Amino acid sequence: MEERIDVFLELFREELPEYLLKLEKDAISKNVPILGHTTADILRFYLRSLHVKNVLEIGTAVGYSALFMRECANDLFITTIEKIDQRYEEALSNFNKYDKDSRITPIKADAMDAIVSLKKEEKRFQLIFLDAAKGQYSAYLPILIDLMEEGGVLIADNIFHNGAVVESRYAVTQRDRTIHDRLREFLKDITEHEKLDTLILPVEDGVAICQKK
Ligand code: SAH
Ligand code: MG
Repeated sequence: MEERIDVFLELFREELPEYLLKLEKDAISKNVPILGHTTADILRFYLRSLHVKNVLEIGTAVGYSALFMRECANDLFITTIEKIDQRYEEALSNFNKYDKDSRITPIKADAMDAIVSLKKEEKRFQLIFLDAAKGQYSAYLPILIDLMEEGGVLIADNIFHNGAVVESRYAVTQRDRTIHDRLREFLKDITEHEKLDTLILPVEDGVAICQKK
């Protein structure tokens, strides 16, 4: 049923440029994680409905989602953070090819260091796409809230950690248990936070949408 719905929905999805289809295929074949189609729909919806001009992305991988967001509007600027050299280099080469007007600014750093610097520089973003280091989401949250404009949104991907987050603590491995506990803590933080309105969607690997009041 779900698969049939996915195929059906593709009929109504805005077509992607050829190069993005190719990047998506390459990423999937090399097991590079990239955002799902419904998660992409959610990003596109908010980018356009909120007339977003400034995006912060945490977790560039090879640049697929940054390039996807760039295609959603032509006056949109994206800052994106990646810590792994090889991924960063591959993203850079993709940005050189496909981001002709340099609207994407890649940063090679650990996400925590990078967001602390952005905060010191008093940078503000209307949309933040949080898509890295699942175990750190809670630690990033207070800084990300400061980096968000009022009315802006934080979209967090993979909050179900491949479904592990709903398993009993005892059914998951030690490493996953830590991520599992921390993701649960993140979900508690965002749903109880006085500055946020939060929506948790069971689509793909779980997406949380938080709007700053
Ligand atoms: N947003 C991408 C996918 C990102 S996958 C897309 O949809 O196309 C998550 C990425 O986050 C990986 O490339 C990983 O190397 C990076 N990452 C993980 N932990 C990080 C950290 N602490 N700081 C910066 N990047 C990190
Ligand atoms: Mg993801």
